[in-house]
Amino acid sequence: MKDAVSIILVEPQNPINLGTVIRAMKNMGFEALSLVKPASMAFDKTQISAHHTEDFLDKIQIFDSLDDALSQCHESYGFSARKRAQTWASVEVGDAVTRMFGLAREHKKMALVFGREQTGLTNEELERCTFQVHIPTSEYASLNLAQAVLIAMYEIQRQAMGMQAENAVQMPAIIDNYVPGSAPATLDQQRRLVQAIADALVTLGYYKSDAPNAAVHRVQNILTRAQLHEDEVHLLMGMCREVENYAKLLKRGIEPTQFRPKNSLLN
Ligand code: SAH
Repeated sequence: MKDAVSIILVEPQNPINLGTVIRAMKNMGFEALSLVKPASMAFDKTQISAHHTEDFLDKIQIFDSLDDALSQCHESYGFSARKRAQTWASVEVGDAVTRMFGLAREHKKMALVFGREQTGLTNEELERCTFQVHIPTSEYASLNLAQAVLIAMYEIQRQAMGMQAENAVQMPAIIDNYVPGSAPATLDQQRRLVQAIADALVTLGYYKSDAPNAAVHRVQNILTRAQLHEDEVHLLMGMCREVENYAKLLKRGIEPTQFRPKNSLLN
């Protein structure tokens, strides 16, 4: 399970926090740390024990964008002290971790994403996350960055020590005769699909104004529940592309020939 999880810190500013996160990762047995635009790599070495850190430090990955850091993952969990509107898929850390155990059994990769010390994650960054995760606290919800990372990893450690069996959340039902023809879709592929759907909706004139609209969040949630595989993403992306092509042909005054396949679902 721990191999399936990477920790991503977005624009960490404080070298003491970075050192404390590294120490906590060693304590909890996690190895994959990615940093998105860190203020500096000069973390405070006094925060980490001197032993066996070289290997760890060599493996830290640095990225220019959160999208790049996430591209090979299948689900991302954006940790946030603030609760957001209902359409954001939001879970508490214990339930998030229980879900992760289910995904790890399917050989999926998960990223835990943590925000800046001062301002947390932006809405745009949280939109890149499959779920928003909240750690329950008193009314003063804003934890120190390294403490939030430690709690998330501790929850994984705790459930790994035997609680996952009785807590196991039912994974979405798999349709009996569906045999995946390809690998589970990565976050990058899922994001492109949501983008393609959003673009198709714009083309269709679905939106009646440019005011913020929750429809795409809801579509994203539906797709998350569907646990799509690559071939399914390609199928849906192809459909979205056809919407764009249709609109282009109409603009040129061409109405494409339409067929209705003989299929009981299309009557
Ligand atoms: N002032 C910021 C908090 C930043 S704390 C804000 O209001 O968003 C740095 C990071 O620690 C956050 O971006 C988040 O990833 C994590 N964090 C802090 N408190 C948390 C909580 N109660 N639940 C989940 N994540 C938390």
